[in-house]
Formats: sequence, structure tokens, C-alpha cells
Amino acid sequence: MTVVRAADSLRDQRRAAAALAAGGLRTGDRVLLSAAGSPALLAVVLGALRTGVVPVVLDPGLPPGERADLVEDADPALDLGGDPERLLAGDAEADLADVPLARPMHYTSGTTGRRKGVWSGVLGEDDARALAGEELELWGFEPGDRHLVLSPLHHSAPLRFATHTLLAGGDVVLPGPFDADRAAAAIAAHRPTTAFAVPTHLQRLLGRGIDWSSFRLLAHAGAPCPEPLKRAVLDALPADSVVEFYGSTEAQFTVCPAAEWLARPGSVGRARPGREMSADERGQLWCAVPRWARFEYWRAPEKTAAAWRGDRITVGDLGRVDDDGFVWLDGRREDLVISGGVNVYPAEVEAVLDAHPGVVESAVFGVPDERWGQRVVAAYVGSVVSAELGDWARERLAAAKRPKELRPVEELPRTSTGKVRRLDLPAVLGLDG
Ligand code: ATP
Repeated sequence: MTVVRAADSLRDQRRAAAALAAGGLRTGDRVLLSAAGSPALLAVVLGALRTGVVPVVLDPGLPPGERADLVEDADPALDLGGDPERLLAGDAEADLADVPLARPMHYTSGTTGRRKGVWSGVLGEDDARALAGEELELWGFEPGDRHLVLSPLHHSAPLRFATHTLLAGGDVVLPGPFDADRAAAAIAAHRPTTAFAVPTHLQRLLGRGIDWSSFRLLAHAGAPCPEPLKRAVLDALPADSVVEFYGSTEAQFTVCPAAEWLARPGSVGRARPGREMSADERGQLWCAVPRWARFEYWRAPEKTAAAWRGDRITVGDLGRVDDDGFVWLDGRREDLVISGGVNVYPAEVEAVLDAHPGVVESAVFGVPDERWGQRVVAAYVGSVVSAELGDWARERLAAAKRPKELRPVEELPRTSTGKVRRLDLPAVLGLDG
């Protein structure tokens, strides 16, 4: 367990920036890291961002072949591999801008297929200030913050929360790869004020008697948070500290403070200030984003063109926006199952299955079917036998939405951020052939 102090990090950031400049890296060049979260990693990322160099942080656990593909794609001027420390060895220190002049380049999780590099290039001073100001205003980072890192720093939200805490003068607690015992020990020992979590982390942390009273903000996103879990989180944490948001590697869309969620359970809240959300005729969500939050897919102009309409961007999520501006997600375009001409949103079916007391979690997907085009199949973790769960579903779901097969599994296949990889389920269940 490591605590990164803002003052120590600042010195290291200056050293990293000096080393990057000495190595010939210029504005917009990429420095690649594939290391676990550490003080050195955060210093190199911030040293780069504050001088306009773009850090690319890869999952250190990637299989070598996949890593090689992404390194080739990112085309870095410097590849530090797993050793960010080596940039901090010298004594030279460079001047830093007070806000990031670039955004890190991240690859999407690949939940729905191939990973895409998200590239925002280098920001002008005004845009850089606007972007940093927006984060600060929304999350209220302050020098007294102690931010607990629960998710790997190669993902955009965890890295953004950690770097903005340090920029604001707060400390960052790094317990290491997620482990519920370790995270609970970190909360007891360091009394964090903020954290970013994905729902699986929350699932594994609740019910352990953790004293959450030090938290002023627990932000969660990344995947649907089942309603029973959400209510348990709201009960366990200080009032008003739990804020859900909806965003992706590409951009940030909504925020949903606890009170708004309680008034509209299941919504992901309203557009962030300065953004606007709408749904098109196909139920696909679009968000108008300010100039400083624009991006493109790295070296993939056709993907970029498909994602944008004017100043509006979509990442392929389906949903609706109600009259008060609240956004309700139905799932992702790629996950939609069309069975006998009926659109079946896995999230809706999963919510029904998850509500059974004998189900821990479930994942719904489609498999090719001669008669229906696709048929709905569900994998679930839990103690209930499938016949009983089938009865439960029959009472609560229209025929087209009812899983035709319900398969108990030990665990669901996931990405490193804890998202279910529905793509892998047909193979896991032997239905791919
Ligand atoms: P890829 O695009 O390569 O498949 P990915 O989209 O899974 O990767 P991320 O950018 O980490 O990678 O995931 C963003 C997606 O997570 C969103 O598009 C949305 O589908 C889902 N998501 C984010 N926040 C929420 C939330 N609060 N509730 C439900 N789903 C969410």
C-alpha cells in the first residue's frame, strides 16, 4: 500500500518532464507506459500532461501479442514499458503548466470488440483550463482530499480522478490491484475522502462492516449498478456522498447525485453542465460536448466520422432522455438482441433475473437461431436452479424477452475493469459452434 503525497509527486513530475524534454519528446509526442499504478506512474503521466506530451497507459497484464499491437498502433516516441521510475532518476526539474495541456490517450476496454485509441491531441491554454476547471467544479477536488484508487490506472476515469486529486494538492492512496480485504484495510488505515468505483467493487466491499464515514464522494460508473446494490451503497455511505455518472473512455456525459437517483431510481442522471443529451430515431444516445472535450479515434477516421454528427457524439449506447432531461440507458447497440423482430435489451432482462434472491448476477446475450433470428440466452451466478429462475422470468417478462436457456456459471467473463464480456459468453457456454 502506497500513499502519494501531492508535494512529493510535484517534484517527481518536474523530473519526469525534464527527462522527457531531454529525451527529445515534444508537444503531442506519446510516451507509453505499461505499468501498474505507482507514484512514479502518476508522476510521469502528470509530468507529461503538464508539458503537452501525451501519456499512453496500457494494462500491464496484456498478453504480449496484444501489447505489441497496441504499441505499434500508439507509435510512441518513448516506451517506458513497466519502468516509469527510470524517468525520475535525474536531478533536473522542468517547469510545468498548472493544468494538463493534453489528455492521456486511452484504449477503450474492448468490451464490444477491438480496442480503439481515443485521441484528443494537445489543448490550447484556454481549453486546457476549461477542461480542468470542469473536473474541479464537478468533483470539488481540494488539498484535504485523500483519494482511494480502486480501479486500474490504465482506464480513463480512475486516472482522471487520481491526477486531478494530485493537481488540487490532495493525496492518493494506492492499495494495489483490487482485493476486497486490501481495499477495506486501506479505508480503515487512511480514511479516504474520495474514491471512484465500478459496481463490482461496491458489490465486493459492502457487507464487510467497513466504516465509510470519512467519504465525501464516492463516484461510480462504467456499468449498470443493480438497484438492490445501489440502495445498499446509499445506506452504507454518508448522505449525499454517492454520485453516479455515465461516461466512457471517449467522453463524459451525465452525473446523478444520490437525491436525483432516489427520485428516479435507475436513471444515470442529467447531462453534465455544458453538455446536452438526446436520443435519435433508433434510440441511440448523442451528447453535445464542448470543444475542449472533443476527441477522435486514433488513426481511424472512418470510426471518428461515424461517432460524430456536428458537435454531437455517440459511443453506441441506447437509451432515452425524459422530459426533465434524465437519461435512462437501455444498453449498447452491440449488445441488442433482436428476437423474432423484437428488440431485447439485455439490461432489462438482467434486472429481472438479478432481482431473484438466489441470483448474484446475470448476463444476457443473443445466439443465432433459425426461427427467431436470435434467441435470448442468460448466464447467471447464484444458487437458484434454472427451472425456478425460468418460472420467475415467465411471470415478469414478455415471451420474446424471456431467456430460452438459463445457464448457471461459476463466474462471468470480465474485462480488467470488471465489465461483463458478453462477446465471450457463447464460447464459455459452448454455444458458438
Ligand atoms: P469498447 O468501446 O472497446 O467496447 P468500453 O466502451 O467497454 O470498450 P468504456 O469506455 O470503459 O469501454 O465503457 C463505457 C461504457 O460503459 C459506456 O458506453 C456505457 O455503455 C457503460 N457505462 C458507463 N457508465 C455507466 C453507468 N453509470 N451505467 C450503466 N452503464 C454505464
